[in-house]
Amino acid sequence: MKPLLSFSLIALLLTALTACTQHGEAKPAASSVDEALSNYAEVAPTAYASMDAAEEPVLQGIEIDFDFQDGVSEEMRGYITENVGYSVAHLGALLGTPEIVHVVGMSTRDWGKEHITGIYPNDGVLSDDMNNMLADGSQWGKATAPCRGMGGFAIGYTENPIIVLDAGTGCTWVDPQEEAAGIDVASDVVSHEFFHLGQTALSGTDNISCVAPTWFSEGQAVVVGIHSSRMDSQSRSAQTRNATLNWLEKASSSSMKQLEKPDYDKMQEYRQGALAVEYLVARSGWKKSLELISEAGRLAGGQCLSDQDLIDGFNTAFLTVYGQSLDQFYAEVTPYLEWSFENKQPAL
Ligand SMILES: [Zn+2]
Repeated sequence: MKPLLSFSLIALLLTALTACTQHGEAKPAASSVDEALSNYAEVAPTAYASMDAAEEPVLQGIEIDFDFQDGVSEEMRGYITENVGYSVAHLGALLGTPEIVHVVGMSTRDWGKEHITGIYPNDGVLSDDMNNMLADGSQWGKATAPCRGMGGFAIGYTENPIIVLDAGTGCTWVDPQEEAAGIDVASDVVSHEFFHLGQTALSGTDNISCVAPTWFSEGQAVVVGIHSSRMDSQSRSAQTRNATLNWLEKASSSSMKQLEKPDYDKMQEYRQGALAVEYLVARSGWKKSLELISEAGRLAGGQCLSDQDLIDGFNTAFLTVYGQSLDQFYAEVTPYLEWSFENKQPAL
């Protein structure tokens, strides 16, 4: 196996509280899709309504093993447990049939490295990955309260799925100001990572990053995170979206092409990627965005692709599923990225 790693770094910028938008509830009719694409304010509501309408069936019998390091707060354990339960109910069917999913809440890197490696002690690749990822000097385990600056990562082993959450001592993921404004970072982070496991399973490869450009793999996971924060209310989801997009930067005509690879510096693969996936989902439905992963995985034949092979394969899958090339889509979606930047809604 040649597993890669996926990361979720959720960073929020706090600004003054203003209005929020509501997500739609009904399944979009063809006319409302046309309306969404001619009125960009309707794109996000139409996309999330499509996700509402396409809820996956609950996967029965999935075993979840929670393991929290001593010192992880009760509050944090509660958030993680609750949100994993929600993710299993709403996204679990995407995972195929793993025997067990491990959910690790780590408070220090050293414990994380030793503990995660110990889950599958004979897996040398896992051991190597954790030694690299949680090496001295990495940022994991160092976040300060409320710690929503660092999220977690999913290790996309098809057979041995693990989610690791950065749950340092004192972390709650909840800032009282955000809580009051209806921003739900906890459900955003957990379902984001859980969904990466689903993407990987759908792809039939060791990691979604083997077949999909970064804007798509991260953007789709961000969209799922925003959607899942509706656990409490639609307005909560809208506010979580606003918070997520706070650091959105102005797009250029070459933005999407640049975001085919990670740009952890500015995180625009998460934000512009989420907008691009929203647009795709509003236009063509949620299920098609899942079919795209399956098709890209099928074309890759289970191999982990990189560089131009990855983009060529994804482009072919995109043509099959959507009838247009990636470059054509990039040209079509860029005005929506530009509009979204001009119309950003502060969450706080
Ligand atoms: Zn991610």
